[in-house]
Amino acid sequence: MMNGSGIGRSGRPGPTMPGVSDPVSQRPTRIRVDLDAISHNLREIRDRVGVPVMAIVKANAYGHGLLPVARHLQAQGADQLGVAFVEEGIALREAGVTVPILVLGGMFGPQVAQYIGHDLEITVSSLAKLRQVESAAEALGRKAVVHLKIDTGMERIGVHSYSCGPFIEAACRSRWCTIKGIYSHLACADDPDSPMTAQQLERFLDACAHFERIGAPMPMRHIANSGGVLHHPGSWLDMVRPGIALYGVLPEPAARRTLDLKPALSLLSQVVYFKVVKAGNPVSYGATWAPTQDSRVVTIPIGYGDGWPRALSSRGAVLIHGQRHPMVGRVCMDQFMVDLGPDGTAFNEDEVVLIGRQNGEAISVEDVAVAAGTIPYEILTGLNERIPRLYQGG
Ligand SMILES: *Cc1c(COP(=O)(O)O)cnc(C)c1O
Repeated sequence: MMNGSGIGRSGRPGPTMPGVSDPVSQRPTRIRVDLDAISHNLREIRDRVGVPVMAIVKANAYGHGLLPVARHLQAQGADQLGVAFVEEGIALREAGVTVPILVLGGMFGPQVAQYIGHDLEITVSSLAKLRQVESAAEALGRKAVVHLKIDTGMERIGVHSYSCGPFIEAACRSRWCTIKGIYSHLACADDPDSPMTAQQLERFLDACAHFERIGAPMPMRHIANSGGVLHHPGSWLDMVRPGIALYGVLPEPAARRTLDLKPALSLLSQVVYFKVVKAGNPVSYGATWAPTQDSRVVTIPIGYGDGWPRALSSRGAVLIHGQRHPMVGRVCMDQFMVDLGPDGTAFNEDEVVLIGRQNGEAISVEDVAVAAGTIPYEILTGLNERIPRLYQGG
């Protein structure tokens, strides 16, 4: 097991004093990442789609820890990695990750030298940005590797598909850009029945056809996120870009489980306090909840300061001894309370599962997202650096 890390951390346990164990990795609250589940999901996706996979590791690898996950994916043969920001790409390069890395987010002119210097592939999303890339690449005397971003309906970054001709032509003429890819992003792919996906795909293929019209070689075409991988085989094209599915989580609680995906992340803690709360005496800030009869209440040492959502106040649940118990009262910054009822038992240090399995019972990220009124992505990426990550498998 090793201590986890995010951007700017080494991914290895820090130095500890002889005879004194590292207090961070000893924290009773921890995230356990099953690297074998991630390899399984990668294999499952790759076997299904039959094209290269760009594994998305932005936002601290969806909370799983950027460097350990990226190193593992590289070792497992992921063809390419994708991140959101240039800083994430630089952190990967500085940690010795060598596979191709595309930065998906919008690029700023002053960053181009950083991209090229760290051998990061650039998303070029406008003619103006193409010019910025060209002039920086020329000044450095080194070609930039770029993917052209086409907007087919997301109305985020990218050149509108209906007016992308001049943009594609300018990129093809550029002496300082190697066009490795052309891509777009699906807005509704997690909904298997949305007509938007077929429409976006048609617009994208029409934009790609521009290369043929001008007699230029076709770069890699990619548009499928996890929703596309799960529900829309027509979107797989020359490469897929799954994020959340790699971690074994569905993009939407209602999405279909068309692949055998294994959740990689567990969030665990331990009971730190036990007390009996008398009937009618309210629990936590704002006094929003009180037991109707004398009730056994335990305190768990994790709160919204760790990214455990306050929206779960009196709505979430945890597992203790394989049984589901409700979270009661408001979630505090560093702690929350759980009602065991009039007869429940739990002792200090007993394991508490917030996400994961215990004695055949399970709480999924999807369950937590529904209880908190949000999506699984926000739950995973919200779990912050205050929680140590421990890795198994791999
Ligand atoms: C985040 C992201 C993905 C991955 O999305 P998932 O829904 O997690 O699979 C793919 N492509 C782009 C451009 C993204 O920003």
